[in-house]
Amino acid sequence: QWIYMNGNYVTKEDAKVSVFDHGFLYGDGIFEGIRIYGGNIFKCKEHLDRLYDSARSIMLNIPLSYEDMQAALVETIRRNEMRDGYIRLIVSRGPGNLGLDPERCPEAWVIIIVEQLAIYSEEAYRNGLVSVSVSQRRNIPDALNPKIKSLNYLNNILVKIQANLAGVGEAIMLNAQGYVAEGSSDNIFIVKRGIVYTPPCYIGALEGITRATIIELCDKLGYTLKEEPFTMHDVYVADEVFFTGTAAEVIAVREVDGRVIGSGAAGPITSRLLEAYRQIVEVEGVS
Ligand code: PLP
Repeated sequence: QWIYMNGNYVTKEDAKVSVFDHGFLYGDGIFEGIRIYGGNIFKCKEHLDRLYDSARSIMLNIPLSYEDMQAALVETIRRNEMRDGYIRLIVSRGPGNLGLDPERCPEAWVIIIVEQLAIYSEEAYRNGLVSVSVSQRRNIPDALNPKIKSLNYLNNILVKIQANLAGVGEAIMLNAQGYVAEGSSDNIFIVKRGIVYTPPCYIGALEGITRATIIELCDKLGYTLKEEPFTMHDVYVADEVFFTGTAAEVIAVREVDGRVIGSGAAGPITSRLLEAYRQIVEVEGVS
């Protein structure tokens, strides 16, 4: 496994960062999770756009041009002979001193890791996940904006801990007002009477790239899609519930907080969207 670190390709054993790196000390940095399907990078532009937007927002200077970053991704995939897998692209503020001042970090660090990935079984895609809502609230846009895909993921990790304690794969996080925001690392959708709903991102959700793809697919397939705030009540009475994410793709939810959703397996619209999603990932992408 070859890992890209600041222009060099090193083995997994040699891929080490400094204890003075502010990504490590403070979570000061940003990242992307990207998929490779059939050797192609899916939604490369969208992921790089989000990365460079996150960087601009936190005043992090990425030491690579957009084109050079794309070339680095392609080369890392080539060196690892990866056809289907996952890319983790990390830009850390880089090594500084123990103070939190980013001005003391002269050079941002760019790291690219590619790995195999299979988070859910095909059985889970057919039958759906069991999920729960958790007490941890999403941080709000006037704190650390969820649009920034920062290395500071404690908010999401606390959700994941609650999911683990409940013995479920993904949990549902609300915002401070009690509206459904998203999962620990996935966006959420519900279906009621044939209409597909997802929370607007201002509620406190990452602008997921899979979410955007599903919104486009709803349009193509003729499903009405509404971006509207909703509550756990709406989730409990939904006909279908599903999560979307780069790693998870489109994964159905069959039970939430003990309430069986719809038929208790992946619903027809969820299944149709997953099928359509898997078709486009095979044909689109940058190589
Ligand atoms: N929400 C959060 C908090 C995430 O970390 C992710 C995954 O990266 C998502 C949603 C899904 O976003 P995407 O579809 O771009 O992977």
